[in-house]
Amino acid sequence: SPQSLAGLLDRAVERFSVQCRNQGIGMFVEVEPRLPQVVVDRDKLDQVLDNLISNALKYTPEKGMIRLAASRDGDMVVVKVIDTGIGIPKKDLPRIFERFYRVDKARSRKLGGTGLGLSIAQQIIEKHGGKIQIESELGRGTTVLFTLPVAKEGVA
Ligand code: ATP
Ligand code: MG
Repeated sequence: SPQSLAGLLDRAVERFSVQCRNQGIGMFVEVEPRLPQVVVDRDKLDQVLDNLISNALKYTPEKGMIRLAASRDGDMVVVKVIDTGIGIPKKDLPRIFERFYRVDKARSRKLGGTGLGLSIAQQIIEKHGGKIQIESELGRGTTVLFTLPVAKEGVA
């Protein structure tokens, strides 16, 4: 059903507020004014956001920043999860959405995880008619971007 992304993003921030505070990481929502609603299964979209935010928190050192940004691009809404973390090496980016794929076993092992978060996020976004992609610069940060179709009427 049609959902307000501003609400979904605000609630996601609330779910992680304690963890953010404990890690000394700031998390901010930036939603374009009059952003249209999106048609999504709310639980599924929450799962995508939780996967992406938990990655950002896992791979961003103390004093870092995470931004959740949403804006319109034609018939789609674009959502970005932007972190100032350790980044991902160029060579790993093409395989990052594969099930069980994790960068550098050594750095990943101590942080835990199975390598499923991004592939689940991709499945959910594609089922909603959107696309997901990742951009990253080693040592500087990572941006995960996904799109969702604009709902026919209603504003956030
Ligand atoms: P799981 O999500 O199943 O707990 P995971 O986080 O390792 O495990 P994915 O979420 O699929 O698995 O991510 C795959 C790999 O991509 C991670 O192991 C990590 O190396 C890299 N990665 C994902 N997001 C980021 C990020 N924001 N910054 C740096 N590396 C990332
Ligand atoms: Mg993950």
